[in-house]
Amino acid sequence: MNIIVGKNSGFCSGVKYTITRAKDELYKNSSIDCLGEIIHNKQVVDSLEKDGLRTINSLDEAKNKVLIRAHGISKEVYEIAKSRGIELIDLTCPKVLAIHKQVENFSNNNYFIFLFGIKDHPETIGTFSFCGKNSYIIENAQDIEDAINSFKASNLKDLLIISQTTFSLSLFDEMVQIITSSLGNNYNIHIEKSICNATNLRQVETKEISSQVDLMIIIGGKNSSNTKKLYEIATKYCKNAIQIQTKDDLDLSFIKKFKNIGIVAGASTPDYIINEVYNFCLNAD
Ligand code: SF4
Repeated sequence: MNIIVGKNSGFCSGVKYTITRAKDELYKNSSIDCLGEIIHNKQVVDSLEKDGLRTINSLDEAKNKVLIRAHGISKEVYEIAKSRGIELIDLTCPKVLAIHKQVENFSNNNYFIFLFGIKDHPETIGTFSFCGKNSYIIENAQDIEDAINSFKASNLKDLLIISQTTFSLSLFDEMVQIITSSLGNNYNIHIEKSICNATNLRQVETKEISSQVDLMIIIGGKNSSNTKKLYEIATKYCKNAIQIQTKDDLDLSFIKKFKNIGIVAGASTPDYIINEVYNFCLNAD
């Protein structure tokens, strides 16, 4: 059996930073609250919860210092924490924080902002809160017409197009093309391809590996947006693609059917889970 494991699989720098700092904080404090699951990986969450991390869904539940995860939070949540005197341990990925600043600057300079992203994803919600009132979230091509109408109604002439860091590369290009050809030359359009390089490399690699194997295994949390994207790419280029969380989701007799297997993992998957999946496949041979 030939098994190819993606070189760019597993924790991205933002997730590594969050997890390392969270462990340091748990060493110093017996209990810390985390606003939302620290990452989209049940095994990592369970392990940190054993060490004193408490996942909360809103600041109303806060009893300790509150950790902010890599996706970041909205402007309103920062304000609520400040007004209630809640101490935050802000572990938002520096790349996401830079995007918050960037959209705020463009908004202050009278740009309308199109933010490409999954509408209910925490990172998109956080970034959107810094975009000001002249802004619109575009999740897919169906949203473009309404977004353009909203931009035209604002009477602004400058437009920023930017995206969630884990957005699909191909969808970004496709939607920019539709928007620029609909608006013509009457507007000043600034395009920021803010898809993180970690996401970029993973998506390109998934496409390459998927085209060479007869089974693609995508590892990652059920709610992980970047893992879902990898799965979508894999299904386009490989006849057999499955998304799993751990090796326990694999069936030995199913794996035995394939001679060439590709394995990639989303940004919230620890290395040990990738190794377990690899060893499971190897032992099926
Ligand atoms: S994918 Fe990129 S931007 Fe998002 S958390 Fe990871 S390193 Fe940060």
